[in-house]
Amino acid sequence: MKNIPLYIDNQHYQGSGQSFKNYNPATGEAIHQVSGTSPDDFEKAIESAKRGFKVWSAMSPTERGRILHKASQILRERNDELARLETLDAGKPIREALEVDVISGADCLEYYAGIAASLHGDHIQLGGDFAYTRREPLGICAGIGAWNYPIQIACWKAAPALACGNVMIFKPAELTPLTALKLGEIFTEAGLPDGVFNVIQGDAVVGQMMTGHPDIAKVSITGEVGTGKAVMAASATTLKKVTLELGGKSPIIVFDDADLDEAVFGAMLGNFYTQGEICSNGTRVFVHESVKKAFMEKLIQHTKALKVGDPSDPDTQVGALISKDHFEKVMQYISLGQEQGAELACGGKQVEVKGCEGGYFVEPTIFVAPEDNLRIVEEEIFGPVMTVLTFKEEEEVLQRANNTPFGLAAGVFTKDLRKAHRMVAGLEAGMCWINTFNINPVEIPFGGYKQSGIGRENGLAAIEHYTQIKTVYVAMDKMVNPF
Ligand code: NDP
Repeated sequence: MKNIPLYIDNQHYQGSGQSFKNYNPATGEAIHQVSGTSPDDFEKAIESAKRGFKVWSAMSPTERGRILHKASQILRERNDELARLETLDAGKPIREALEVDVISGADCLEYYAGIAASLHGDHIQLGGDFAYTRREPLGICAGIGAWNYPIQIACWKAAPALACGNVMIFKPAELTPLTALKLGEIFTEAGLPDGVFNVIQGDAVVGQMMTGHPDIAKVSITGEVGTGKAVMAASATTLKKVTLELGGKSPIIVFDDADLDEAVFGAMLGNFYTQGEICSNGTRVFVHESVKKAFMEKLIQHTKALKVGDPSDPDTQVGALISKDHFEKVMQYISLGQEQGAELACGGKQVEVKGCEGGYFVEPTIFVAPEDNLRIVEEEIFGPVMTVLTFKEEEEVLQRANNTPFGLAAGVFTKDLRKAHRMVAGLEAGMCWINTFNINPVEIPFGGYKQSGIGRENGLAAIEHYTQIKTVYVAMDKMVNPF
């Protein structure tokens, strides 16, 4: 079985921590042995990052941008190979990985490469005296990834961090260790100095090494709400800055004047893409009671036509869930929905896929829930499980949509412009879509309200989270004795 090492100082590095196996979700087979990170290995990564920071932060922003841009080009050139690796590791359909995962990572590197040289402080005139601000990097940033979009998450964290002159130690999720290592190799090929992007491997214990280390200035994590809270609490001991990209239970609201085809496609995109393993998914679909019947007919017809299958088959539209544990969790929620009185309108069963007998496949599943207080309506399932609810009034649906501790995303389908903007103004969510869903180009800030997160990734907003402002007051007159 091939070994997956750590990546420190631009080189493969055999960690001395507990090694672990990496599985193909489509077959359940172990495919790699992954090096674990011991506390000594982690110290090595920190020392390397300190050296890297000295070099990288002293380089001109234009030079930094050039290297990030080169890395984005290599990602695009190797899209096919990297997409196949992501599909092998994460179980997602190859048609998605080829179109989205690597390319959105490359887009992010290209975007921040382009703005690196434009980052600057301000000049503030104070009569004769003046002040200026320096926009400085934070230092060593820790990136901790989730398993659903491994290379995209690594790029979304590394690109703004590095563009601002920081260095990063990145830990992918234990379940998806492969493409972060490739990203490290690509950065090396692009000319990144040693120690600027180190990759360590391991589970939550390794994550805790990062959140507990005094030399780490900032932690950016993508994960569950509970993990985000643990990371924030641990980071507080040394008052690290945090960016938390956490879970959700986002609403999609379909008004009676909506284009029902668009609304159906939006709901499907927001529930079944990547087998439903997307944080911003609109898993509570509120449909106006007058169009519910027509909406359900179209929704069920299109959902039944989805092809669940071998993720490496280009025709497959719904791939394998990430692991046995996760598969069991999703199946338990499907049972729970039925026990608590939701109507199973479509799907709900495990799928046997020829040639992928040990894989974790679930039919795209649609429930119609009689009320909002069922667990499948309240809790994040992170699988291909949609719940449809009905409403009558605009105010009522707004209140119900906001009645959740999460606040990651929301979608509104209507042809009434004023209603659409009125709704998004009232929705408690960091990312809102009108007449579409789950479209996240890197130019726009992404992140959660309420317990779905702190900080923003992408867009110019992320710069605020990877820099600190130093103010310099300059006296132009002679200082006099103040006493
Ligand atoms: P987890 O919260 O289980 O893990 C996220 C990462 O944190 C993993 O690398 C994990 O390690 C690590 N980790 C776990 N505990 C700790 C800890 N105490 N200290 C430091 N690191 C820790 O999330 P999943 O990987 O299961 O991903 C699914 C979740 O991610 C869902 O809730 C989803 O909504 C959310 N998500 C949010 C997104 C957003 O942008 N808002 C985007 C994508 C997903 P390991 O797993 O290796 O043990």
